Amino acid sequence: AAKGDGRGVYRFYSSDMHADAEDRRQLEEDLRDALASDALQLVYQPVVSSVTEQITGYEALLRWQHPRRGPIGPDVFIPIAEDTGLIAQIGDWVIRTACQDAAQWVGSTRVAVNVSPIQFANPGFPSTVMNALAASQLAPERLELEITESVFLNDNADTDSMFARLKALGVRLALDDFGTGYSSLGYLKKAPFDKIKIDQSFVRGAAIKGNRNSAIIKAIVSLAEALGMDTTAEGAETHDELDLIRQLGCSHVQGYVYGRPISAAEVIERQLTTGTIATVEGFKSS
Ligand code: C2E
Ligand code: MG
Ligand code: MG
Ligand code: MG
Repeated sequence: AAKGDGRGVYRFYSSDMHADAEDRRQLEEDLRDALASDALQLVYQPVVSSVTEQITGYEALLRWQHPRRGPIGPDVFIPIAEDTGLIAQIGDWVIRTACQDAAQWVGSTRVAVNVSPIQFANPGFPSTVMNALAASQLAPERLELEITESVFLNDNADTDSMFARLKALGVRLALDDFGTGYSSLGYLKKAPFDKIKIDQSFVRGAAIKGNRNSAIIKAIVSLAEALGMDTTAEGAETHDELDLIRQLGCSHVQGYVYGRPISAAEVIERQLTTGTIATVEGFKSS
């Protein structure tokens, strides 16, 4: 099937069941090569305090520059990595690289790393985290692990003990994409999260009059506050969305309004030139 093809061809084959499976196999093979050849990169998106407008941290987001197809997004290749087991190696690389990069940043700037449910289910995961912290000399409280609700799908004693072991390392835990998954409030009662990240589907359009999203955001914020957790509103793009989010009391904001992800080198350069105060950029008017 498709070899040396452009993205247009890929899209064409995607509509065909057989070629789709073939395509996936090819991508899987390419992903193995990517891991071995430095074709994966982490970029970092600022997370900003609503109160001080300080950049309190950056979220590490994985990028893959495919030699023939160009950039492929994590929404496409992470599921392949999860299906094939490659996520274990990729996840290790992500944590080690993110810790190394963050160790170069000023002050207490944190780094947030996305953790796949498959990594989370691996009993060896806390050692991976501990080794990455030791190798980079990053203070544990500067590392935040982002976990989605899907880890609770097979909620059992192992899930509880994984949370306890990670907390014991001193790292922070965030519940990512809150409100999109299998949302049971039961686990908020026991899982030791430091932060809830409100999914961008609630933030997008929340500033439009009559929209119900703002009521939902408000409810999540008061729930989080009562439990002593921070909140990050994800995917804020416009000035209106930013104003509303701050008014609703979210403690942190992340989104194009404060900037798209940048390279590790750009983070350092930014800190040297403009410090850690965020600037509102926005990318469209609303
Ligand atoms: P996520 O963890 O919820 O990350 C936020 C996503 O929203 C990122 O997409 C980010 O670029 C995007 N985003 C941020 N602000 C805005 C905005 O204002 N508007 C819009 N339209 N989008 C915004 P990205 O980088 O494509 O990542 C998608 C997902 O892939 C992530 O969602 C995460 O679930 C997964 N992912 C990314 N990197 C990793 C990784 O290293 N490991 C694992 N396991 N998953 C990862
Ligand atoms: Mg995330
Ligand atoms: Mg998210
Ligand atoms: Mg997501």
